[in-house]
Amino acid sequence: MTPTVVTTVAELRATLDVERRQGRTVGFVPTMGYLHDGHGSLMRAAAADTDIVVASIFVNPLQFAPTEDLASYPCDPERDLLVAGTNGVSLLFIPDVSEMYPRPVLTTVSVAELSSEWDGASRPTHFEGVATVVSKLFNIVGPCRAYFGEKDYQQLAIITRMVADLSIPVEVVGCPIVREPDGLAMSSRNAYLDAEQRQAALVLRRALDAGVEAIASGETDPGQVRKEMTAVVAAEPRATIDYAAAVEPDTLVEPEEIRGPARLLIAVLIGTTRLIDNCGVDGDSPGR
Ligand code: AMP
Repeated sequence: MTPTVVTTVAELRATLDVERRQGRTVGFVPTMGYLHDGHGSLMRAAAADTDIVVASIFVNPLQFAPTEDLASYPCDPERDLLVAGTNGVSLLFIPDVSEMYPRPVLTTVSVAELSSEWDGASRPTHFEGVATVVSKLFNIVGPCRAYFGEKDYQQLAIITRMVADLSIPVEVVGCPIVREPDGLAMSSRNAYLDAEQRQAALVLRRALDAGVEAIASGETDPGQVRKEMTAVVAAEPRATIDYAAAVEPDTLVEPEEIRGPARLLIAVLIGTTRLIDNCGVDGDSPGR
């Protein structure tokens, strides 16, 4: 079914309040649009768990640095309606910037420590923008289950911690990464890649595989795992490494030694397009 498009905070609040009063549970999937099956998987998970699913599409200026791709971020409203509708979304919240930020923002949310490394090191204002808009969206949507992809693993860790720290009445649910058949993690930014870059982008998955393999064959030094992953990226002429790391899954800190479960994180520039990926190792989900 085609979702109902809602553009104002007041209308979304009023609609969801009625639903909750009638005893229905709310599932929420925040996105920046240009929807693909990674988003679709979150929507399906929400539809399976909750009575009414709302997705948002908002390209949040607060989380883009002036040098980044805010103005050129891909968009396809017709396809978004189709993807949302076929994956069980009944309400699509598409506010414009003035609806979300009617006045200059004086109040922001930052999640210390978890936001400083990895993507936070390369994009210093990014996670504050994300935490601020997600807490606004949570305040607009109200009590719900909110679905986030492990694709943005650091973001998921930050939102999970923010909800706990601020006692926000939202249950955060992490969902597995959806990949193209050849292993590239689905991303709206894949649209920026030309054919050769699209091929080169497979280096992220290869580097993660190399890290998984190193750990599986007994490597416990995170520095060594990083080197193995970096070497794979260095061998691809169209790719430039931003970071590669083996970290503790909850704290995102590089351990002295890899003993328990770990998360491999990677960010790579293909031309000017920055792609990220990650996977779990150890426990019972190696190479997920
Ligand atoms: P975005 O529109 O890129 O801000 O992403 C919106 C949500 O979809 C975030 O929770 C992402 O982690 C999630 N997501 C994006 N790509 C994927 C993917 N390939 N697999 C699973 N979730 C994804």
